[in-house]
Amino acid sequence: MSQTAYCYHCGVHHPIEEMRQIYTKGGKRRRCIKSIEATKAETAQRDAFGQRMTEMNKAAAQAKQRILNSQ
Ligand SMILES: [Zn+2]
Repeated sequence: MSQTAYCYHCGVHHPIEEMRQIYTKGGKRRRCIKSIEATKAETAQRDAFGQRMTEMNKAAAQAKQRILNSQ
């Protein structure tokens, strides 16, 4: 039987091979790779969304400027 460790993120035990030891303000803790990857993916998605919105706003501002300039 494989060893398990408590995952502070999920609040359950996972097999130790799926865990990463991380350092927090509270000290050393274990968290599963799955939850770390999920958090990373969410952050990347949020960043990509923010980037897209910035570009859209910029494009919209430029389009408006072009219209104003052509009048
Ligand atoms: Zn977990």
